[in-house]
Order: sequence, then C-alpha cells, then structure tokens
Amino acid sequence: MKDKTQLNDEAKARLAALPEVLGPKDRLQIPVCPMPSQEPSVRCHNMQEVALGYGEDQAVLEAKRCLQCKNKPCTALCPVGIDIPRFVGFVAERRFKEALDVILESSLLPSICGRVCPQENQCQKNCTVGRSHKDIDQAVAIGRLERFVADWAAQNGISAVPVPAADSGHKVAVVGSGPASIAAAADLRKAGHEVWMFEALHKTGGVLVYGIPEFRLPKALVGREIDKLAAMGVHIETNYLVGRTRTIKELREEDGFDAIFIGSGAGLPKFMGIPGENYVGVFSANEFLTRSNLMKAYDGSHAATPLYNAKRVAVFGGGNVAMDAARTALRLGAEHVSIIYRRTREEMPARREEVEHAHEEGVEFLMLSQPVAIKADERGRVSAVVVRDCVLGEADASGRRRPVEVEGSDHELPFDCVIVAIGNTSNPLIKMTTEGLDVDKRGNFIVNEETLETSIPGVYAGGDIVLGAATVILAMGQGRKAAAAINRRLAGK
Ligand code: FAD
Ligand code: SF4
Ligand code: SF4
Repeated sequence: MKDKTQLNDEAKARLAALPEVLGPKDRLQIPVCPMPSQEPSVRCHNMQEVALGYGEDQAVLEAKRCLQCKNKPCTALCPVGIDIPRFVGFVAERRFKEALDVILESSLLPSICGRVCPQENQCQKNCTVGRSHKDIDQAVAIGRLERFVADWAAQNGISAVPVPAADSGHKVAVVGSGPASIAAAADLRKAGHEVWMFEALHKTGGVLVYGIPEFRLPKALVGREIDKLAAMGVHIETNYLVGRTRTIKELREEDGFDAIFIGSGAGLPKFMGIPGENYVGVFSANEFLTRSNLMKAYDGSHAATPLYNAKRVAVFGGGNVAMDAARTALRLGAEHVSIIYRRTREEMPARREEVEHAHEEGVEFLMLSQPVAIKADERGRVSAVVVRDCVLGEADASGRRRPVEVEGSDHELPFDCVIVAIGNTSNPLIKMTTEGLDVDKRGNFIVNEETLETSIPGVYAGGDIVLGAATVILAMGQGRKAAAAINRRLAGK
C-alpha cells in the first residue's frame, strides 16, 4: 500500500530541483504540503488518528516555504511565543533536534498543541506566505511542523525529562491534571519543590483524555507527558476530589502545602433549557465523550458502560466539542448524524479543519436551525427534534451576526439521540467549599492578571477555570505563568 507520509514523485522532483539558496520567489512557488490522512470512508469506522503526520521529506519541503520574516508575525500570535521562524528554519535544514530545542524553550506540549491548536486563528493567521497568496490555507503549516518535530523526537527516543533543582523544602499542591496543571506541575517540580497533583477522575489528562477523542489526539501522547511528570518525581493522586476528599483550607492549613495551583477546568455542561431535555437518549457532549473516551464505550467487548445504541443522532452546537461528538457518534455506529446550528458555517467557532473532516465523513450540517423542543415515544425515548428556522441579524457582542428565529417555521425531524454541545461552565464545588474565594458572575475564578493569584493568598489558578472554556495552549500558558509566580513567592522574591 502507498505510504502517504512519503513525498509523491512530483513533490520529490520539486524538492530535488530546488536551488541550494532559496529566494522568496522560489519559496512562494512551493505548494503547501497536504497532511496525509486516513480516507474518510475508512476512518469514520475506526478510532485511530485521522491525520498521519508528515514524513521527513514532507516536513522539509513544507519548512522551505517559510520566508524567515524578521518581524515574526506568526510568533506574535502564538500564545506562548514560540520562535517559529527559528524552529522552522532548522526543520528546513533537517536539524530536527535543534528545532525541538527551540520549541521546548516556550512550549511543554508540542505534540499536543501541534495537533489541536486552532492555528488558523493563531500562529498561521498572519503568516506572510498566506497573506501573499491572499489565502490563509496557503500559510506555512506551522502546527503540522511542530507536530512533526515532537513526533520525530519521540520516534527517536529523545525524551527530555527535566532534572529538578535541589530540594527547596517547599510543598505545592496542583489541583486537576489538564494542560494547565501539567504545565504548572512541571515548572514547579523543576524548581525543586515537592509537588502533589490531585485529580478527581480515575485517569489524568483532563479534557485531553476525557474530552478530545482518540482519533484527534491519541491518549498515549498525553500519557507520555504524565509519565514525564512522574519520572520527575511529581506525586500523582487520582480519585481525589478537592472540595470533598480534602478542602483547599485543609490542604493549606493541615496538610502543609505552601502554595496551591487550581486548574480544575470548565467541566460543567450547559443545557438549552428546552422541553424534552430529560428524555432518555439526551446526553451532554461531556457525558457522551467521557463515556466513549474514558470508559471505552466504543469497544463493545471491553466497555464498562456501553453507550446508547443510536442510529439517528442530532448534535446541538457549532464548536469543537460538537464536531467531536458528531464524529464520535458516527464511529460508534450511528447511520445518520446531523449538526444543528443556529448560525451559518461562517460563524461556527469550531476549527475549520474539524468542520471539513466532519463534512468529509458524512456528518450533515443543518444551518440556521434552532432546536426548540425534543419529542419522545411512549417509553420516554427520544423520537424527534422540533427545529425552528433562523435568519442572520445584526452582529452581537462577539462580532458574529445574531440568529433571529423565524416564527411559524417549526418543523419536526426524526432522531433517536440528542447530544447537547453548547458549551461548559466551571464546576462550583471548589468555590462552594472555599471561603473567601472570589469568582465572577459566570463562576470563573478572579485572579491577579500578573501572578494568577486568587483572592486567597498562596492559592493560584489558571486555564479554563479562569478563562472560561478556552484552548489547550492558553491553559498551558497560564499554568506556566502561575508556576513562575509561585516559584518567585517561595523563593521570597
Ligand atoms: P481541563 O483540561 O478541563 O482539566 C481539568 C481537570 O481538573 C480535569 O481532569 C478534572 O477532572 C479535574 N478537576 C476538576 N475539579 C476537580 C476537583 N475539585 N478536584 C480534583 N480535580 C478536579 N482546545 C484546543 O485548543 N483545541 C481543541 O481542538 C479543543 N477541542 C476540545 C474538545 C472538547 C470535547 C473539549 C471539551 C474541549 C476542547 N478544547 C480544545 C478546549 C481545551 O481542551 C481546554 O481549554 C483545556 O483542556 C483546558 O485545560 P485545563 O487544564 O484548564 O482544564
Ligand atoms: Fe501555533 Fe499553537 Fe504551536 Fe503556538 S503552540 S506555534 S499557536 S501550533
Ligand atoms: Fe515563516 Fe510565515 Fe512566520 Fe513569516 S510569518 S516567518 S513565512 S511562518
């Protein structure tokens, strides 16, 4: 079978024909290297990763497209400021280890961010190559190159486990084990503190493990990062619910923690508040994805709690979570999956690539459609969704055009399962059990912007619990920022 991670003959000839020293014109003529992927008709029946990743020659050819802009517009839009031209320049010269070192100066999780960052809104958005072609799809594929470098390092056994500094005599608790907490724990342990990570679930990794499906982010990659923490000496406790097992006050006053970082995320699903949401066969996307990812519901022979056997699935929402739920439903055996979204594809918050992949796999998109009720059969099991048409009105505070419902346009569509994916808020448990912890009206922790310290001295927070549902790279950046502030505090600076 053809190895898709090898250059095809045409691209090979193009690489061979490139002059030794490339000028901007030569670089602009190299077409973007497509990401080798599993065929849609095959991948929609398996849980394996959709994107296969670049091979070496593909990465080198793609890296040669970079113009090495002095003003680095790409780096300016990377939330952690990776020196993109420098790492891409090393890839172009096949100096992959040096490329890795450049990335690791700023990011702890390149194999993850290279896969799931919304690059079209971040590093790739202002890429000069994309702008020269007046097409963002022509931007240098920075995320794919970052993923390539991280995967190359793993394949070549280059695993950088940082060596912690000498024992500082301080003890720090990290609540949660998502990207914010992984980053915080690594930087705190590097400074020589005794670090304890407390995770409520039986598996570590946060949304990277229970939310984002295997076909987009293999769990083994997340496991690798957690193993690194353990190898550095971080103590990891699962099934430990802060607020119940121990409270923040107990950790601070009785268990001797000198500082605490809270990265408890935004795991509480929102519902629509429409009639019928209590019927059998209605799931929050969180529950649906957690059952599939964490409890292996897709593996009928091993699943502890098999998922609902649905044939026609409606997914409400237009973000990454909705795409993940829809594509997971297909892989679990649904014959027909529809995304029901009240605006148009233009306004969808999901990453473009995810929308395209869902489309290729056969997910139907019902745009300008607002679900207004769910109907059930005599046994209380979902049988239909009542949908109202919408048109686009003026832009709202988010800058996107507001959906306006068209009265009298209600119509019923047959479904036997509904997945609600309209967003998450923070879980109120820690707030409810911690006196003096200030939160805003959405329940997000209020922190000092410079240090990420909460209203309780010595207690810091970052990631989705502060930002609301955000992104992996932003959560990771906040974990590092808080760790730096804790390190300064414990060093008496
Ligand atoms: P989380 O990853 O939510 O981790 C929080 C952890 O804290 C969890 O493990 C939780 O169990 C634990 N916890 C909570 N309360 C307690 C407690 N009281 N005691 C102990 N532990 C506790 N972002 C992207 O950048 N790209 C994507 O493609 C993308 N896709 C997504 C798809 C889905 C389905 C979802 C849900 C989110 C997606 N996101 C994506 C968003 C991204 O995953 C989050 O922004 C990010 O994971 C937030 O990291 P975090 O560390 O703040 O929290
Ligand atoms: Fe782009 Fe994300 Fe990598 Fe930054 S971390 S360079 S935004 S893919
Ligand atoms: Fe390279 Fe694009 Fe960054 Fe310029 S903006 S340095 S072309 S990746």
